[in-house]
Amino acid sequence: MTASVIDGRAVARGVRAETARRAAALTAAPVLATVLVGDDPASGVYVASKRKAAVAAGIGDVHRHLPGTTAESEVAAVLDELAADDGITGILLQLPLPGHLEAARLVERIPPEKDVDGLTIHNQGLLARGEPGLRPCTPAGVIALLDAGGIGLAGSHAVVVGRSTLVGRPRAQLLLGRDATVTVAHSRTRDLPAVTRAADVLVAAVGVPGIITRAHVAPGAAVIDVGIHRTATGLVGDVDQADVAPVAGALTPVPGGVGPMTIAMLLANTVTAAESRVSGR
Ligand code: NAP
Repeated sequence: MTASVIDGRAVARGVRAETARRAAALTAAPVLATVLVGDDPASGVYVASKRKAAVAAGIGDVHRHLPGTTAESEVAAVLDELAADDGITGILLQLPLPGHLEAARLVERIPPEKDVDGLTIHNQGLLARGEPGLRPCTPAGVIALLDAGGIGLAGSHAVVVGRSTLVGRPRAQLLLGRDATVTVAHSRTRDLPAVTRAADVLVAAVGVPGIITRAHVAPGAAVIDVGIHRTATGLVGDVDQADVAPVAGALTPVPGGVGPMTIAMLLANTVTAAESRVSGR
């Protein structure tokens, strides 16, 4: 068997087109405010892509770029100003932040209804309770990819490797919300290959290049590779793609899998935030 490829670029294009249609149907265009602290090159590239994609979808662009030495109180003041501004629909604080800043504390300055990254305690609480709210973009993108690949989730065994607040935990909650039986593995898991081989759906967000090999994958399983690592030969994921492709039933590539979905879901969340404001939900 050779895995079918779930094309994240194509799925993201569809989400973005639909998001642009929804944005155009609003009386006032939604506005996304991005806040970047410091000059980390990768973060700079991500924020630039997000802003460009927002404008292409008919979403207004407001950007604040603060020096890497900015005090936490000053970053908080910028977030408070954007929070109070009725003209701003969504606020994105680009992570990671410079080491002297406490990301979790700053994220909480964002009002839940403008939290288009879905990272506030309020929105994570709604997710944990299975109630509607703004969902974290990368995990929501994973679910959209599984749907696009025709992977049935109800009753399946989904194994999530990674338990970070940003990716692993919310993704496990979203899969649970879709009636999968969910196992969460992490660095203390004993015999990872035995756990992951039990998966119908395996989602890897480990942060270790190529850690998932064919020894971790049951024949025919759907494998979603969330990892992104820059190497001398280009971008690679957490899955050893060449090793796993002959065994898996479906596989997301790196690049061109989960990555494009993260931005698409951010735009969708921004329009959802605007629609919720109009409807008073
Ligand atoms: P993270 O905060 O470093 O979390 C990594 C998780 O993997 C932790 O839960 C850790 O376990 C677990 N882990 C580490 N080594 C392991 C091992 N040997 N076996 C099993 N589990 C192990 O990273 P993250 O923010 O979740 O990101 C994970 C990956 O996704 C990174 O490669 C990142 O670049 C990528 N990412 C991609 C996108 C995208 O848009 N495509 C977005 C965000 C992140 P413990 O909890 O026990 O430490």
